[in-house]
Amino acid sequence: MRRLLHSFSPHDYDHDRGRHGAEKGPPDPAMQDKHTVLKMPAYLPDFSCIGPECEDHCCYGWDIIVDKVSYRRYGKLPSTGLGKRIRKVMRLIRKDPSDARYARFVRSSEVCPFLTPSRLCRIQAELGQDLLPDTCAIFPRHLRARQAWIDLSASMACPEIARRALENPKGIEILEVRHDPATAGMLRGIEPKQPVEVEASGLALRVFVLSLLKDRTHELWRRVMALGFLLEAVGFSDAASGTGTLTLLLDEFAHRVDSGEWMDRMENAPVMSGLQLQLVKRLHDEMAPWVRVKTFRDCAAECLAGLHYTGTQPFTDEIGRRYDLAFKQAYEPFFDHYAFMLENYLVNHVLHHDLGFHQGRRLFDDYVMMVLNFAMLKTYLIGMAARHGERMNAAMVTRLIYSFTKAVEPDARFRDYALRLLAQSGCADMMHLAVLIKN
Ligand code: SF4
Repeated sequence: MRRLLHSFSPHDYDHDRGRHGAEKGPPDPAMQDKHTVLKMPAYLPDFSCIGPECEDHCCYGWDIIVDKVSYRRYGKLPSTGLGKRIRKVMRLIRKDPSDARYARFVRSSEVCPFLTPSRLCRIQAELGQDLLPDTCAIFPRHLRARQAWIDLSASMACPEIARRALENPKGIEILEVRHDPATAGMLRGIEPKQPVEVEASGLALRVFVLSLLKDRTHELWRRVMALGFLLEAVGFSDAASGTGTLTLLLDEFAHRVDSGEWMDRMENAPVMSGLQLQLVKRLHDEMAPWVRVKTFRDCAAECLAGLHYTGTQPFTDEIGRRYDLAFKQAYEPFFDHYAFMLENYLVNHVLHHDLGFHQGRRLFDDYVMMVLNFAMLKTYLIGMAARHGERMNAAMVTRLIYSFTKAVEPDARFRDYALRLLAQSGCADMMHLAVLIKN
């Protein structure tokens, strides 16, 4: 699997454009006969880790999870030197272990015990790439094997990925890479998890979702909201279980978007920025105690200080006015030129979180989580605008987004808490989510 990630080359690309430069449908069967097809964002094939140059090494603030195969390999190392050290800091995971999450390295500080002072990995340097646990060998990439192709995505928790993904004004394209079946045989550790018909409808839905998110003829908030209406309809119908019904539903939806019917409907959604800010602050206060990612803590503190809304201070009308003013005077002018960064964030989120490939309530929950992440980022960014005014720049946005992703992505507590909070407050439907989306 690791060699597969490093073995394709740019010459294998098929540029793969759909309605708005988004993804197209299932791979061509003729192509499949001879090759395994990999689908991935265009920024990924020539990505490489920048190692010691990285401003926030991926070992920082995270536990390193060890898979079962690596655990066994480490058990066979000589009981001296690095082998002894590895075994000393490795502990089995007792709660819900799996082959992928079998053990972990215990940290005595914020960084992995094998990160050297020169910010290199000691395991990689002394034992080689093959002896890295899967977590480190694959990060920031993620592979999903399908029956008919392989999806490869990447996490914005890596600042280098975040730069590549966010800072491209042309948006994120999807590439298809034809891959030698002999190398693809290395994927034996990854099995497709869904039946072929679920995959087919998942792909049809993803193609449509990406196309909608990339349609710059509409403002971004309208695209996000339209997407919610679509996923609500798909999730609560039986359309996702059959491509025929799904195609009809998507066609009808596309027609209503193109006619302006859906977009007009968004106009009536209320703007309640004070409520938006309070809800996001509540989520922030809940997650703050367990966030160890220092860059994110610094970014968030700076953003909330920009709004004078820190600590346990209650919300006031004055804070609300400051929020609205920062939105109008600094956030909006900045994102008039940089809206593509938020679009790219959402497109990457869809790819990396497999949005479209789950069904029923889970499909809509995936959307709710996307909206919550988007709303939290937007609120921090308005705080950043309050703080920096015209000095706000793309690098600041990237820094916030990668560090936020690093803080929330690996921790299931955030998803659980956020979904529960919205459900308990009766806010997990489109009318309430509109409050988070629209400014
Ligand atoms: S976060 Fe990304 S660039 Fe930084 S060390 Fe990890 S993989 Fe490399």
